[in-house]
Amino acid sequence: MDLGLKDQVAIVTGGSRGIGRAAAEAFLREGARVMISSIHPESVETALKALRGLGEVEGSAGDVALEADVTRLVDETVRRFGRLDVMVANAGIAGEEINLADMGVEEWDRMMAIHLRGTFLCGREAARAMRKTGNRGRIVTVGSVAGIESDASGGHYNAAKAGIHSLTRSMAVDFARWNIRVNCIAPGWVRTDMTVGYIPPPGRPLENCGVMDRPGEPGEIANAILFLASDSCSFLTGETLVVDGGQVIVGPDVSQSVQRA
Ligand code: NAP
Repeated sequence: MDLGLKDQVAIVTGGSRGIGRAAAEAFLREGARVMISSIHPESVETALKALRGLGEVEGSAGDVALEADVTRLVDETVRRFGRLDVMVANAGIAGEEINLADMGVEEWDRMMAIHLRGTFLCGREAARAMRKTGNRGRIVTVGSVAGIESDASGGHYNAAKAGIHSLTRSMAVDFARWNIRVNCIAPGWVRTDMTVGYIPPPGRPLENCGVMDRPGEPGEIANAILFLASDSCSFLTGETLVVDGGQVIVGPDVSQSVQRA
């Protein structure tokens, strides 16, 4: 199926590894022009070496929690490619399993800054660029089933992801006047660097991973991101699409998360 992404310009934050890297690959295979970003310059360089064979791709290192870095990322993209059509606000960090009663303000604030402020900044800067260059665009945010269920992945992570689901709806309302659609993807367990230590190696069972009884692969989330970034869903905005192999429909096994003192 032609998703109509050929020659479209897409930014993928957190595009150096995991879900973001798979999304960058998927956009390039569709003929899109891609700017990846991530926080470590060496991580960007490593990814670019692997991605360059697939198509037109550039990279930029920066922290999505910093206004100046996100502004620079979008400016560089427009300068390099002439426009911006798609923003995938994917960069994120794992939630440590800290009981909220023991959590420090620094851990809380960093989690909120990367996920919530980062998604806000990426959405805001993308909307400004899209208004200028085409008055049309698509923004895909990355939430999580952790923003729907409350498991042991960390209350700060769960709250940040729930905030992204809400922010997605608000951006969809505010940006609709410029023909910009905003949707969110909420993955369940996905096999990436983030989940090393949580997901056992292939062949060993993973508890609570849904009715399909396996974690997802990054490419399976990338396909859903591509769909939300395409005109295949031209009547969809403000939605959170759960891609979790049926994890949320059966719910978390809360007994595993509740440890008695
Ligand atoms: P990952 O493999 O750990 O990759 C994280 C990416 O984010 C890397 O590219 C990393 O850059 C970048 N990054 C981290 N902090 C950043 C910052 N402050 N500024 C800019 N870039 C930053 O993670 P993943 O599993 O692909 O996760 C991607 C997204 O999906 C995250 O938002 C995560 O919360 C969400 N998610 C993941 C799962 C899962 O099971 N894996 C489930 C639900 C939701 P460097 O390479 O430079 O370090």
